[in-house]
Amino acid sequence: MTACCKRFLFLIALVGLVAGCSRDEPPSQTAPADSPAVSAAAGLPDVQWPRHGLNDSETRFSPLADITDANVGKLGLAWYFDYPTARGLEATPLVIDGVIYTTGSWSMVFANDAATGQLLWFYDPQVPRSWAVHGCCDVVNRGLAFDKGRLYFGTLDGRLVSLNAADGSVRWQVQTTDPEWPYTITGAPRVIKGNVIIGNGGAEFGVRGYVSAYNLDSGEMAWRFYTIPGNPQDGFENEALKRAADTWGGGEWWKLGGGGTVWDSMAYDPELNLLYIGVGNGAPWNQQIRSPAGGDNLYLSSIVALNPDDGSYVWHYQTTPGETWDYTATQHMILADIDLGAGTRKVIMQAPKNGFFYVLDRQTGELLSAEAYATVTWATHVDLETGRPVEVAGARYLDGATDLHLPGPIGGHNWHPMSYSPDTGLVYIPAQDAPWVYVTDEEFQYRPGYWNTGTDSRIAALPDDPVARQAVLDTVKGAIIAWDPVAGKPRWRVEHAGPWNGGLLSTAGNLVFQGNAGGQFVAYRADTGERLWSFDAQTGVVAPPISFRLGGVQYIAVVAGWGGSMALVGGEALKAGAIANRSRLLVFRVGGQASLPPAVDKPLVIDPPELTASAEQVAAGFKEFMTYCTFCHGDGAVSGGSTPDLRALTPEKHAMWDAIVLGGMHWQNGMVGFGGVLSKEQSDNIHSFVIDRAIFANKEAGDAAVKVEQVVN
Ligand code: CA
Repeated sequence: MTACCKRFLFLIALVGLVAGCSRDEPPSQTAPADSPAVSAAAGLPDVQWPRHGLNDSETRFSPLADITDANVGKLGLAWYFDYPTARGLEATPLVIDGVIYTTGSWSMVFANDAATGQLLWFYDPQVPRSWAVHGCCDVVNRGLAFDKGRLYFGTLDGRLVSLNAADGSVRWQVQTTDPEWPYTITGAPRVIKGNVIIGNGGAEFGVRGYVSAYNLDSGEMAWRFYTIPGNPQDGFENEALKRAADTWGGGEWWKLGGGGTVWDSMAYDPELNLLYIGVGNGAPWNQQIRSPAGGDNLYLSSIVALNPDDGSYVWHYQTTPGETWDYTATQHMILADIDLGAGTRKVIMQAPKNGFFYVLDRQTGELLSAEAYATVTWATHVDLETGRPVEVAGARYLDGATDLHLPGPIGGHNWHPMSYSPDTGLVYIPAQDAPWVYVTDEEFQYRPGYWNTGTDSRIAALPDDPVARQAVLDTVKGAIIAWDPVAGKPRWRVEHAGPWNGGLLSTAGNLVFQGNAGGQFVAYRADTGERLWSFDAQTGVVAPPISFRLGGVQYIAVVAGWGGSMALVGGEALKAGAIANRSRLLVFRVGGQASLPPAVDKPLVIDPPELTASAEQVAAGFKEFMTYCTFCHGDGAVSGGSTPDLRALTPEKHAMWDAIVLGGMHWQNGMVGFGGVLSKEQSDNIHSFVIDRAIFANKEAGDAAVKVEQVVN
């Protein structure tokens, strides 16, 4: 069968799915005065969402005010669209000329009629499913860039693709990474001055970060900026990297990749002609292994300002010198002009993983303020004179202590976009506390293509002892923080059950929208945080909402579908509990009457075979599990819902263990065979650990049941 024919058949299958797409009736001629029909009659102009962060400043503040704090209670589902996958969804939709464009799992692209939901076309870049093993954080994609009828997006396996927006046909595609290295692309490109800018990820696995610009018309590379120096013996690409090399103490970091990937955020100031990139963590995390004599390790964990014409360095601000905790500065950056007390300043704002909210002068990189927005144990504060954090003793885990550190590698804030409302002057942060125990892995060996953190993640696993476990879980939190960047403190906060809640949208209707890990899509008052409306999305929502107006009607849209790194590794720490992935595009309007089909959850049946392995074999399996398995199958083999819960394997699956784990029988789901990496004995030990966890889960449930009976009696 030809590729074209295959695609046609898949399209038919998809159109079949769209049959399940429902929508409300068009407004009637006799609609009441406050209905959308009257708005349409008033000829209100269409308002698009043309760029990833809505605009170059990436504010994610919609100026639309048809939906307000007064009428949001009447918000209802206008239509929905079922995606053909069941993995994480993190995309920001684009809305242009009545079409809503989204990216899905495995870097697929979908174009739907924005008013009706009808699928117009889709494109599958055929990412090899086996590439999933090189992704730290699920097979997600965060969105597209658009310019003059053309779309641009990255693929998990490192390609940059341009499509014709009209029909999804391919204009060009280029490989932006060396396939010999475990690079991935999950971030959205940005279009700036005739080029499309794209970064990549993979620092957990060991790569060297960079950002590249490609010509919009030809796909030819215009420039590339590496964020960290390579092997000094090979010379340096530019003076900025030569200076950076002086901050890398000892070691052969280039053999381990070094890190500094630009995997998500960018912003652009056309007036200053500056492109801002957010740079990620070191590879491996542990600086003792990467750069044993220390140093700041520029430009890890930095905001770097580049000249977008040629990619040359202009300035940088490093949020976490000598990064050793996975404290990326790849988090969302917002440009705004705000008065900090001495006149209006052009600022750039970021809440990176390390827990401090930074306000910088975006022309010079000067630090204006930095205050903790999340729980921070690694530093007391940021010194405004030196611009550097003041670390606490023991923060660098050189002494083998097993204290809880906050933030952990998930960060006080991750990729989930913030939103800045000029109406309220507040930055809305999807924040969290999720601790980690950092201990050097004394047996560390670099494993190309697999996780290489240089820390012993067994120590960070939740303990079995119920009191110790509860003590850890008590530190785990999630919140929306409405941050006042002038005062440097929160003005209100909304608490969530746990971490990994969705990105944010604020609107001129005095509203803030967010989906959460518990499966609710919620509207709050932007000025007070009062909860005004919610919708049962039937799945965890991590992606950020958008808003647009079409035919006189304001819509709110969000991609729903549980997934991403914390959803995979989180285990019990997710707190909201495992939630199924139901991958959908949800679009709302005032008076929307559509409804989702009922969600039916399958109960988790944990019925393990007898454990015949020794305690030593289970312990050995624990180590291998935490090295190779936990980042997709969860701490303690407790699934967050978007990958199979291994404790609940059926007898048939237990019998097929070798075929799946070593042979790669489920490679089409992204579960590659580890036969070239793990021995049969190691695989058996992992199997024993999984059975041990299943038995533990049943024992816990049994104890809980006894407790309930005792209370009742
Ligand atoms: Ca990372």
